[in-house]
Amino acid sequence: MAEVEIGQLLRATFAEAVDSRTEDVTFDAPVTGEVEAGRTPGTLYLRGRLAATAPMVCGRCLGAFRQSLAIVIDEEFLVGGAPVSSGGALGPEDFVVPLGSNLVLDVTEVARQHLLLALPMVPVCRPDCRGLCPRCGANLNERECGCRRDEVDPRLAPLRNWQPSDQGTTEPRDHGTRGPRN
Ligand SMILES: [Zn+2]
Ligand SMILES: [Zn+2]
Repeated sequence: MAEVEIGQLLRATFAEAVDSRTEDVTFDAPVTGEVEAGRTPGTLYLRGRLAATAPMVCGRCLGAFRQSLAIVIDEEFLVGGAPVSSGGALGPEDFVVPLGSNLVLDVTEVARQHLLLALPMVPVCRPDCRGLCPRCGANLNERECGCRRDEVDPRLAPLRNWQPSDQGTTEPRDHGTRGPRN
């Protein structure tokens, strides 16, 4: 990105390959979007919206799919690491990092960090993915395996018999006084 003078606002189209630098995910398609950078006397800020897709494996059905990632960048960088003397410009919500004295901001690195943060904890190929049958391993998105529906995943079995500890409290107060007919 070009140099930004104080008070100047620079807009740019971002379309670059971003190396994730982790084995967890590969950004194998260009990251694209619009970014703008601006300078105040003490800071350099970067804003923009970027989009990317990445190949992932569904955590439910283990199928391969492409995860869409949309990130919003809104960061302010302290120039030279010196604190900003005049208050008001920076709120506590701002993510402020010191910028080296050469004032070079690596937009690709900022995008890389945001993309990694945007990755879902458990990727799901689609919201209604039915996953694999816990009994036979069939992909329930593709076919009905016929396993008994009422059988509960053994790991969840303790929850099957769970009930509110005192059901009476959720019922009308006079319910108990009527009681079963004698
Ligand atoms: Zn899935
Ligand atoms: Zn099954």
